[in-house]
Amino acid sequence: MIGVVAVPEGPIWDDFLTVSARIGGDVGLVQGAGGNTSLKDGATMWIKASGTWLADAATEPVMVPVDLAALRGRVLSGDLMESEIAAMTLPGGPAGLRASVEAPFHALLPGRCVIHVHCVDTIAMAILADGQARLAQRLPGVAWHWQPYVKPGVRLTMAMRAAGADRAAIIVLGNHGLIVSADTPLEAEELIADMRHRLGGDIAPSQAAMPALPALEGTGYAPAQVPDGHDLALSQALCALAGNCAIAPDFVVFFGPSVPILQPGPDLPARLSALSAQPLPLNAVVLVEGQGALIRTDAMRGTEALLAGYAQVLKRYLSNGGGEIRYFSPAECAELLNWEAEKYRQAQNRSGQGDA
Ligand SMILES: [Zn+2]
Repeated sequence: MIGVVAVPEGPIWDDFLTVSARIGGDVGLVQGAGGNTSLKDGATMWIKASGTWLADAATEPVMVPVDLAALRGRVLSGDLMESEIAAMTLPGGPAGLRASVEAPFHALLPGRCVIHVHCVDTIAMAILADGQARLAQRLPGVAWHWQPYVKPGVRLTMAMRAAGADRAAIIVLGNHGLIVSADTPLEAEELIADMRHRLGGDIAPSQAAMPALPALEGTGYAPAQVPDGHDLALSQALCALAGNCAIAPDFVVFFGPSVPILQPGPDLPARLSALSAQPLPLNAVVLVEGQGALIRTDAMRGTEALLAGYAQVLKRYLSNGGGEIRYFSPAECAELLNWEAEKYRQAQNRSGQGDA
């Protein structure tokens, strides 16, 4: 019988919460409830709970304890099931919260502190068909591991384990993001900063505030609050790219497999009303070409942040010189949305892909 786990004390725990909040507050690293951090403390691993926001880590209890030996043992034996992860959460954390389905790779990696982020600079490279080779050019002398895309969760952890990813302190996840593993939270944060430095650089600042749009009342949409989002509609180069958002898991989960691009005109309100009648996450974001980005008033919390991250990924991709993007297949989109492939095809038809 395992008793209630005491919340750790001391500088490393304080650093863990501070670093978690700092990373969570940076939309270039974490958008909404995405990303997660963990700290191993003896037989326990503390990890961000599913559905909570890293940005809240310094002010709210968002970390839950997990039985590290049990989880790691099941990862190493290769027979862990996704449904078992939540039950490995130990008493001692905030009531009602459970470990994330990404907890297994935190248990697999040996570093005391593991941080996983949806770093826009990393994603802009990791969506490329030749992402591994392009990253290798940018990361001379860095010991890093390239993990081709696998659906997040237990399957991703098993693929990482099979490939020996646990020997690297820096892991780039194809079409997904970045994981770092270090002895301390500050060292992990430093690894992320170094990757951004190597993969980033100046990108064009946001173009403008939202221009005047026709009356949106009753359409189920409102202008996006994040300026970056409007750039997707105002820049021709970005608008040409933005319709197919099937480049990283959270964009699909929050926006659906595509972002409708509409032309301005008198029928715009009627077309918006039709789009907002579809089940979420379909059409959560639409672009009005040359005007701005709109978000459904019933969109999931975090959609604004995801839109900002999406715009930053595409801007970074263009400033890197473009290149062939590896888009998710319909089957990969369907599994992210927990849909049958047939439901995906029907939704694609209803949402009017290519509509414009
Ligand atoms: Zn992730």
